Amino acid sequence: MDASTVVGLSIQEARTLLDSRQVSAVELARASLERIARVEDRVRAFVSVTEDLALEQAHEADRRISEGRAAPLTGIPVQLKDNMATRGVKTTCSSRMLEDFVPTYDATVTRRLYDQDAVLLGKGNMDEFAMGSSTENSAFFPTRNPWDLDRVPGGSSGGPAAAVAASEAVFSLGSDTGGSIRQPAALCGVVGLKPTYGLVSRYGLVAFASSLDQIGPITRDVTDCAIVLNAIAGNDSRDSTSLNVDAKDYTDALASGEGSLKGLRIGVPTEYFVEGMEPEVEESTRRSIKLLESLGAEVAETSLPHTSFALSVYYILAPSECSANLARYDGVKYGFSDGEAESMWEALERTRGGGFGPEVKRRIMLGTYALSSGYYDAFYLKAQKVRTIIRREFERAFEEFDAIVSATSPTVAFALGEKTADPVRMYLSDVLTLPANIAGLPGMSVPAGTSEDGLPIGFQILAGPLKEETIFRIARAFEQASGWDGRGQGLPTVGHGTLVSPSP
Ligand code: GLN
Repeated sequence: MDASTVVGLSIQEARTLLDSRQVSAVELARASLERIARVEDRVRAFVSVTEDLALEQAHEADRRISEGRAAPLTGIPVQLKDNMATRGVKTTCSSRMLEDFVPTYDATVTRRLYDQDAVLLGKGNMDEFAMGSSTENSAFFPTRNPWDLDRVPGGSSGGPAAAVAASEAVFSLGSDTGGSIRQPAALCGVVGLKPTYGLVSRYGLVAFASSLDQIGPITRDVTDCAIVLNAIAGNDSRDSTSLNVDAKDYTDALASGEGSLKGLRIGVPTEYFVEGMEPEVEESTRRSIKLLESLGAEVAETSLPHTSFALSVYYILAPSECSANLARYDGVKYGFSDGEAESMWEALERTRGGGFGPEVKRRIMLGTYALSSGYYDAFYLKAQKVRTIIRREFERAFEEFDAIVSATSPTVAFALGEKTADPVRMYLSDVLTLPANIAGLPGMSVPAGTSEDGLPIGFQILAGPLKEETIFRIARAFEQASGWDGRGQGLPTVGHGTLVSPSP
């Protein structure tokens, strides 16, 4: 088996190959590592590649398969965003602050994947501390979009989305605070799910904004997404915000075929056709909505009038929480430390000044300001109140509708460097995704075609709390009917053409 064999492989397909012994987990791991070696100089989706660990785990997986005890992810090559703790493997958050940080424990999601003997290929590049929408805020290097190497993969989980799109990993896990799973999934033409807040444990996830952060799968198709959610969802006593819900088999919810969406009511909020949306994205979204109708869903326009406040609420709450969470990086406990100082205060200043990049500093300053006495009521408290209004608005909408759909991102992948000088323009990338975080709702981005330039466009499906099954039902039927199952559109063409050729 060589590297080309893993190109485009889904979890299910890999499972079949492994279980029928057409390929061993070690061969699959080797082919993935070879694929990484072949394309990584251009895509740069990995902060680190864990070759020895992968081969060791693959041996373990082969043993398990030969004993007839394979779990759904046994022997499947995975990447993890580099903000999830991996014992003995650097977890950098793409920050100088954690550049040499080697956790002594595994995140719960890591543990759950290891329990099934999944194979860790390495850690995914990201915007520093998950702050950003393009992966250009990584302290190390930007990741490139496999569909067009001059464009961004989105962010902050740009490494995970690019790694799956470029077939470096069969799947990855991302984290989503305001859109960081769904937006890069949309820009890279893969499937990304942000589960209900609290469905997946955050234990061992480096905190950004704890009331918004949520881990979820980034996969090639919808069925894979359900398989991965099965593995990582469920109560964890180590995370006090973890929900106490029974384990489910999300693959049961996958629907397909004509009429499969009969009885479902789907709302289309007018506010989600935002100003600045690219015409091709709008057209694609309207086409996608028509497709749902043709599958039997009842579609109606609706209004979520407070949508326009979501961005402001987010950019008060997320920085506020981040300013508190990132106070721990003081050069004393762990992480980067600049000890060349005369006094404690100078050491603190030098550590934080040199350890954090400009976007992280901007967020800490914004948050510290919003929480400071005299401004707390005007900013933080007010934002919390508007958060409640937004949440209630969704609650009412979900009395009427089973799901709400929209574009995932107002634009297709933009050029590297295009928005770095203008933070507010960059922040607008998440205008359609962050309301779900504010309300704690599940949301998925599924591929919905490409622009004329061959760049992927994503379609977002939102549902009420713990209604992931509704999303899976719609997403699978949509995927099947549209043919955009991560293969229907082919694999990355522009990038892919460049990717497989040995020359740069
Ligand atoms: N782009 C948003 C931000 O910069 C969302 C990030 C995320 O979801 N982690 O905060």
